[in-house]
Amino acid sequence: MDTIDCVVIGAGVVGLACARALAAAGREVLVLEREPTFGTGVSSRNSEVIHAGLYYAPGSLKARLCVEGRELLYAFCDERAIAHARCGKLIVAARAEQADALRQIRARAEANGVADLRELDRAAVAALEPALDVRAALLSPSTGIVDSHALMLALLGDAQRDGAMVAFGSPVLGGYPVADGMVLQVGGESEIELHARWVINASGLDAVALGHRIRGPAAADLPRAWFARGVYFTLSGKAPFSRLIYPIPEPGGLGVHLTLDLGGQAKFGPDVEWIDSPAYDVDLQRAPRFYAAIRSWWPALEDGRLVPGYAGVRPKIAGPGMPEADFRIDGPSRHGVRGLIHLFGIESPGLTAAMAIGRHVAGIVLDGE
Ligand SMILES: Cc1cc2nc3c(=O)[nH]c(=O)nc-3n(C[C@H](O)[C@H](O)[C@H](O)COP(=O)(O)OP(=O)(O)OC[C@H]3O[C@@H](n4cnc5c(N)ncnc54)[C@H](O)[C@@H]3O)c2cc1C
Repeated sequence: MDTIDCVVIGAGVVGLACARALAAAGREVLVLEREPTFGTGVSSRNSEVIHAGLYYAPGSLKARLCVEGRELLYAFCDERAIAHARCGKLIVAARAEQADALRQIRARAEANGVADLRELDRAAVAALEPALDVRAALLSPSTGIVDSHALMLALLGDAQRDGAMVAFGSPVLGGYPVADGMVLQVGGESEIELHARWVINASGLDAVALGHRIRGPAAADLPRAWFARGVYFTLSGKAPFSRLIYPIPEPGGLGVHLTLDLGGQAKFGPDVEWIDSPAYDVDLQRAPRFYAAIRSWWPALEDGRLVPGYAGVRPKIAGPGMPEADFRIDGPSRHGVRGLIHLFGIESPGLTAAMAIGRHVAGIVLDGE
């Protein structure tokens, strides 16, 4: 049986960032990806926003890794000429009674070390974005957008330059611990077993299910997987905005917001719909709710301008009505199994945080020697 030092399961943005960080630290790395290419999962069905780190519970992994990851990401994008824009975003209070929610967001952002938010009154908002009709807003100048595919390509390129190997069409079926690491069963054209000193489960929407098929940690210590679909509608024609526009967050997501891609195309979403298993259809019946939500801050939106876009599914580990869960990066110090790291619940801001997650995971591996 072949022995590999570090096996990363999943070639999404997080798995690739882990592979890059481990390869840069001089480790032998093999990425196993079920699909024929990288980045076909959650990483290609999101808003491509570089989040500033405003909303997350202070001290949580989401808060820390978002702020750290955002800086790593901007620096990486600058260095490698990855298309991105620090376009900024406005969080808007459509009604007077939402002003308090803005103050709470600002206080939480400051607790997370995000000190660059600016409060804007109605006139200041109108001066920046004349099409908006809101009472007040917070301007987040360090929010941006990134070409996520170009980012993944650059992460993959770095990892391969530093010796990482990638095997596409290689689904991990299960595994079990041995004295010096883990044995993985890998499908594909022919089924094989691999011995790995370290296994990083970065399989996104499948992470919990695969966690159950990799024996070791007690089943009771694995989270339950929940799936929350978010659909997008794109705007036909030109958008009258040059910044991202977000409402006050709603349970399960950030509210139907407007994001721009690097070509200036505007899209709205994602909303929140709890589903039993990942599925990507965009239900036209959801359009009226989008119109209503958007018109609360952009009343001039004309009928017929929203066109069905795409859908993404959030890999959640807390369900409807439950408190928001933090990222779970479960290493040996949590589950006691040497050589195994599970990444659970890597929903937003996972794209922003990916490079910091990679650094964190590499730290666990290097500390574990
Ligand atoms: C609607 C939506 C909007 C979002 N917007 C943003 C945003 O604007 N900004 C932000 O920072 N974050 C955002 N996110 C979060 C971000 O997209 C994710 O956190 C991130 O892409 C997760 O990457 P990943 O590598 O963990 O997962 P994935 O990209 O899903 O990668 C997992 C990979 O594992 C592979 N795999 C699965 N099972 C196996 C197996 N058994 N064997 C081998 N391979 C396997 C899959 O094929 C896949 O390629 C959003 C998420 C959603 C759903």
